[in-house]
Amino acid sequence: MRLVLVGPPGAGKGTQAEFIAAHLVVPKISTGDIFRANVAQGTPLGIEAKRFMDAGQLVPDEVTINMVRERLAEPDAADGFLLDGFPRTTPQAVALDKLLADLGDGLDLVLELVVDDDEVIRRLSGRRTCHGCGKIWHVEFDPPLHDGVCDRCGGALFQRDDDKPETIAERLRVYARDTAPLVDYYGAQGKLVGIDATGPVEDVTVRAIDALRSYGG
Ligand code: ADP
Ligand code: AMP
Repeated sequence: MRLVLVGPPGAGKGTQAEFIAAHLVVPKISTGDIFRANVAQGTPLGIEAKRFMDAGQLVPDEVTINMVRERLAEPDAADGFLLDGFPRTTPQAVALDKLLADLGDGLDLVLELVVDDDEVIRRLSGRRTCHGCGKIWHVEFDPPLHDGVCDRCGGALFQRDDDKPETIAERLRVYARDTAPLVDYYGAQGKLVGIDATGPVEDVTVRAIDALRSYGG
């Protein structure tokens, strides 16, 4: 199954992607994670991406599309994938359609996580991520047993640089301007299904998997 998760920053895409990808037995491909790994390693791509990420802006389409093209060419993505955080602009969506059409494929479904801005701000302000395994926590909504330490791997938790209040506001503006139009784009293709992404993480996962089942996933 070829699936895209769409929704504002903080909607819970990364959190749900882990469960959904395990359910579908497909790789989870997060462009944000790939950029962050490049930033951490100091690669030329990371150096270029970092100034956009720190400002709450999108990395330019050409750079992002080339990166995704390379990632989707890897063998583990041949039979399906779950994209988290890509596409985020109409040119990216058009490029993805073309890339898949060239391979004789297409997307099966685009799952939209629906949450309002106030909830997104609460979620982003308390988000913590594990340095070791990448698991996503929240200081209030999904806290680890011991402050700052990942229950799963014992790694140290960090707060993302782009989860500062002023950057969050900019990311929400960018989402409304550049990414929200994708809801109509995929709606017109008959591929969009929206789910209520509020409430406990487990409840959202159940809604997501039910939605996939009703579309054959
Ligand atoms: P995204 O990948 O869409 O930016 P994340 O998956 O990183 O969002 O989630 C953002 C924050 O919200 C994280 O701290 C996560 O623990 C928390 N979170 C995710 N889903 C829920 C939920 N259903 N209820 C409360 N908090 C949640
Ligand atoms: P995320 O982890 O999905 O919140 O992404 C973190 C940051 O990485 C974003 O704010 C952007 O700066 C950059 N990024 C991730 N995915 C994309 C994308 N598809 N297009 C452009 N920039 C992206």
